[in-house]
Amino acid sequence: MTIGIIGAMDEELELLLKELNIKEKKTKANMDFKYGLLWGKEVVIVRCGIGKVNAAICTQILIDDFDVDKVINVGIAGGTEKDVLPGDVVIADSLVQHDMDTTVFGDKLGQIPRLDTFDFKCDRELVLKAKEICGDIEGHKCLIGRIVTGDQFVNSPEKSRWLCSEFKALACEMEGGSIAQVCYLNKKPFVVIRSISDNASIGAHMEFEKFMGISIANSTNILKKMIQNN
Ligand code: SAH
Repeated sequence: MTIGIIGAMDEELELLLKELNIKEKKTKANMDFKYGLLWGKEVVIVRCGIGKVNAAICTQILIDDFDVDKVINVGIAGGTEKDVLPGDVVIADSLVQHDMDTTVFGDKLGQIPRLDTFDFKCDRELVLKAKEICGDIEGHKCLIGRIVTGDQFVNSPEKSRWLCSEFKALACEMEGGSIAQVCYLNKKPFVVIRSISDNASIGAHMEFEKFMGISIANSTNILKKMIQNN
């Protein structure tokens, strides 16, 4: 049983990599795939880079070259609902790519044309396990709901509120929906766990840098307990 762990940026993986007992490293598509033992479990940890294309390439390599059994995406995200605050954790139960738009043909916004699903649903077991563990985080909320993904850093209050109302999204980021699509196509269980670093809809869009540290610590902590209890 090997778990693939993807983060978009170095900062999101720093704490995990400190704990990884690396056995092998392979570079492909300019990404370093680090295979080894993390808290006694077999994992491959990789930084995919920012955005949907990077994330998709990375996920397919994890599946093809490392034959991972599950994929977990951790990192930070912007809160879109007004009470999803910096430091809170959102466990995605489903993801949608908010910048996919073929509405001119009558499709719903976010629908990938000719695909048999609108949203990409995370593995129920992984979601429940993350939720169980999340209860332990002091001082912050842990929510389950939809995360939306697009190749855009959302820092306008209007756009943020719109994502919330249009897609019922709790949070937005730039990779999860793409990782989810690749896992869906390959029938691999996955979950996306994001900790909130900013929230434009309440004017907290300038707090990205300030909250990144605590956010990353929160999502790493959940992941640690998930792996240890796996
Ligand atoms: N130049 C910046 C770019 C960061 S992009 C840098 O290199 O640090 C933001 C990253 O954090 C993406 O990986 C995305 O998934 C996540 N993210 C956090 N808040 C976000 C928001 N409000 N909108 C979109 N992505 C966000």
